[in-house]
Amino acid sequence: MKIGFIGLGNMGGPMAANLVRAGHQVVGFDLAAAPPAGAARATTAAEAASGADVVITMLPNGAILRAVAAEVVPAMAPGAVLCDCSTVDVESARAVAEMAGAAGLGALDAPVSGGVGGATAGTLTFMVGGTDAAFATVAPLFEIMGQKAVHCGAAGAGQAAKICNNMILGVTMIATCEAFALADKLGLDRQKMFDVVSTSSGYSWTMNAYCPAPGVGPTSPADNGYKPGFAAELMLKDLRLSQQAAEAADADTPMGQMAAALYGRFVEEEDGRGRDFSAMLPRFEARGRT
Ligand code: NAD
Repeated sequence: MKIGFIGLGNMGGPMAANLVRAGHQVVGFDLAAAPPAGAARATTAAEAASGADVVITMLPNGAILRAVAAEVVPAMAPGAVLCDCSTVDVESARAVAEMAGAAGLGALDAPVSGGVGGATAGTLTFMVGGTDAAFATVAPLFEIMGQKAVHCGAAGAGQAAKICNNMILGVTMIATCEAFALADKLGLDRQKMFDVVSTSSGYSWTMNAYCPAPGVGPTSPADNGYKPGFAAELMLKDLRLSQQAAEAADADTPMGQMAAALYGRFVEEEDGRGRDFSAMLPRFEARGRT
């Protein structure tokens, strides 16, 4: 396929590289980053999009996505599909799908989980919103860039799945970290805490697969000085998107709201920026009740 790829940063760069390796013709555009070896470099987003069967975007936020979409949609060939893999607000995803639909194009919101490691290894999970026809067109590309693609529903459903998942993740990480900090203060050995909780009803992905306590459980960013991994500021972004969506939909999400506030403080007022989101554990460890 001929693929336009816009946004070649930490995630987009290796995703585009995997498409090139699989034999697709990739034309890349980024304001700063260079395209991977084997991909052509466009000088504008519209140039990358023109004549492409599929245009993939991997951009920082919804405002940038909307601006890029306004530029590329008029340049795209009739019947082509615009597939956004960024994590953005549900409203922007739906607005871009509408813009593309009005121009006779297909559109998908297809945010990912798996991080830079998954993007490099081609093992991302895609959560996809949009029509069956658009999903069928892009499915072979999801197979190259990822290990799983779930078609979640209509436009916006992919972003909805992503922010709901990450709201659970943020809340669970905080719960796991505050429980470890309490266990410390009660004189309970961390390994014993892990042995019990990881096989009891308090178990979770954050405890069992990504344990925030160094030296306990499988290897995780905690064992590497809390170097990300999944950075606290990216968790904060996703938690804020969940709260933006909850407000728009009038959903009561007190735990998500608290998690967004805690990660906000951690990143913006404490030492959380640039650290893995599991560094909430040393944060709690260093604090008392107030
Ligand atoms: P990044 O900042 O490394 O890359 C974004 C790229 O977009 C940059 O290279 C930037 O130059 C480019 N860009 C910005 N504005 C542009 C424009 N108008 N035209 C063309 N290019 C433009 O970010 P990333 O880590 O690659 O993340 C991209 C998206 O993926 C984000 O929405 C993020 O939330 C999501 N995501 C990231 C991770 C992760 O672990 N990094 C995991 C899952 C999802």
